[in-house]
Amino acid sequence: MTGKAETFSFQAEISQLMSLIINTFYSNKEIFLRELISNSSDALDKIRYESLTNPSVLDSEKELYIQISADKTNKILCIRDTGIGMTKADLVNNLGTIAKSGTKSFMEALSQGADISMIGQFGVGFYSAYLVADRVQVVTKHNDDEQYIWESSAGGSFTITLDDVNPRLGRGTEIKLFLKEDQLEYLEEKKIKEIVKKHSEFISYPIKLLVEKEVDVEVPEEEEAKTEDNASKVEEVEDEEDKKKKTKTVKEVKQELEELNKTKPIWTKNPDDIQPDEYNAFYKSLTNDWEDPLSVKHFSVEGQLEFKAILYIPSRAPFDLFESKRKRNNIKLYVRRVFIMDDCEDLIPEWLGFVKGVVDSEDLPLNISREILQQNNILKVIKKNIVKKCLEMFNEIAEDKENFAKFYEAFSKNIKLGIHEDSQNRTKLAELLRFHSTKSPDEYTSFKDYVTRMPEGQKDIYYITGESKKAVEDSPFLEVLKRKGFEVLYMVEAIDEYSVQQLREYEGKKLVSVTKEGLELLESEDEKKTLEEQKKELEPLCAQIKEILGDRIEKATVSNRIHNSPCVLVTGQFGWTANMERIMKAQALRDSTMSSYMMSKKTMEINPNHPIIKALKDKVSQDQNDKTVKDLTNIMYESALLSSGFSLDDPTVFANRIYRMIEHGLNINDDEADDVAVPDAPALEEVAETNMEEVD
Ligand code: ADP
Ligand code: MG
Repeated sequence: MTGKAETFSFQAEISQLMSLIINTFYSNKEIFLRELISNSSDALDKIRYESLTNPSVLDSEKELYIQISADKTNKILCIRDTGIGMTKADLVNNLGTIAKSGTKSFMEALSQGADISMIGQFGVGFYSAYLVADRVQVVTKHNDDEQYIWESSAGGSFTITLDDVNPRLGRGTEIKLFLKEDQLEYLEEKKIKEIVKKHSEFISYPIKLLVEKEVDVEVPEEEEAKTEDNASKVEEVEDEEDKKKKTKTVKEVKQELEELNKTKPIWTKNPDDIQPDEYNAFYKSLTNDWEDPLSVKHFSVEGQLEFKAILYIPSRAPFDLFESKRKRNNIKLYVRRVFIMDDCEDLIPEWLGFVKGVVDSEDLPLNISREILQQNNILKVIKKNIVKKCLEMFNEIAEDKENFAKFYEAFSKNIKLGIHEDSQNRTKLAELLRFHSTKSPDEYTSFKDYVTRMPEGQKDIYYITGESKKAVEDSPFLEVLKRKGFEVLYMVEAIDEYSVQQLREYEGKKLVSVTKEGLELLESEDEKKTLEEQKKELEPLCAQIKEILGDRIEKATVSNRIHNSPCVLVTGQFGWTANMERIMKAQALRDSTMSSYMMSKKTMEINPNHPIIKALKDKVSQDQNDKTVKDLTNIMYESALLSSGFSLDDPTVFANRIYRMIEHGLNINDDEADDVAVPDAPALEEVAETNMEEVD
């Protein structure tokens, strides 16, 4: 039976990526070998993991290794592994037809100046083969299928052929790179050794290189002619003692396998004997990252339970940190030096999903299954220890301002997620939080620093949530607090809304939102008295406002928190803030019954000292049903929605009201205005005539 080539088209983005790889000028091409070796190592991990519960999967090929060989005559570099191999379907899916989110992200990153060597992080490392080869063959054998050849010279398509020409693989994959004419250096033994040492030293399977060695061989003299034919160097040996035998020593070229990565696992060594460079190199090989980690922690736990671990914090967040499809965990689990799995969800909590490293347990059974792992107590203890060590590591980073800034920029969301999810460590994590504030607008400040700045008598810690620093720093809610010297923290990440709900307090001081009702501000007896008087005076206006706005507000009251603005809209103690409402509206598929329940009614707080409010009060006292009051109240309400951080349900109506006022301000008469035909605008003539000067 002769295999017939079946042709497939690359998925469009992959095709684009391949052209990019082929055509971009890029000098650090050697990383292709790291990527292919890393794929081999993954494939070996997979078959080894299967073999733990089903040893017979190894029957097709017992030894687990990676082998590199160079065929100088044909200019082919081969990377072979005895890993899990690929079925025909795997070849079609994994090498060309199914888009990965990383393909596009990687191209975007490249266009923004990212380096090609980052390719592995985006899950498309295989295609780096085209940095050095113009044609690639993948010969592969999976236990469940025949041996196939995948082949492509890029150009938008690849072929798959049932393999009846190559030697049988038993099991695994052989990648054949037909090197470009200017990339032949990768056939050189020295070069290959150098790259493997640099990028793949810590791969946990033997990487063997087929090398050619000159060896001395003794041959009888008669064979001299023959060996000369072979073009080997021949040396006369002056063998005084043994002249009778007449032998000669000749040099012959022999092929031999040399293991390139003989280092023992780094985590088994004594930390005192390990240089920072070694930790960094191990990190890079573990993660495919191109940058050094921000921090590393190497520790062992002994006693009832024993394990060793190395944990790393990367220097930056991965491109898909909070993507739901992303692998949740980056800790490789070993049992007595044997790799078990790299996606064990019970090893580290989700909020620490950015921490990378290895854990090697002495106690777990080798043939452990995922299901057993879930209920395993040993694992629970390991997890607890990992969390503890991570916290230690974060605190160490916090001692260095510059490093901490880097860390916080990358992983503040994780810390906040931790506050939300990990009640046991909440207090410790709160120490790591940093915010801008009214008193520290440019530099991050901590709760601890906030507390030292609290003026005498201030009991609570104040915060405001919003979309950005810019959106909150001029908020009307801060007017009086600023005047009184009370610092307000800016919480401007969506996740702050969630974490602050869980945190509730810091060192016994309540966290108080300045946009919610019931704000108590330290007030003097005089201030309290004036406020009570004003409340009484403004009662009729408040009642009138409630009547006009109806269901849109819960009530109207006199405010103690605004100074320059006529009014604000505050939300209930337990309902959503304006910011939370914005966040929830942005989330599609949200349960709408929940939102009507949580979107608590707003209270309109009016500023008793503001000229608009004073004027309105006079109008109401003259005529309960003054039409001007109604129109102005509507505009005030809608403006307050915006300045308080809400969105307008019907912006056009609001805009039309304002246009009407502009028209009147410009003395455009009604006839002209009608030509422009502003629809649905309530009559505002009187409003504008009487109040334009005051509404300034
Ligand atoms: P990643 O390794 O991040 O998944 P790659 O582009 O490097 O992305 O590889 C794509 C896929 O091709 C792998 O996920 C794997 O399924 C398959 N693959 C690549 N090389 C091998 C190999 N040597 N053995 C088995 N499968 C492989
Ligand atoms: Mg890969």
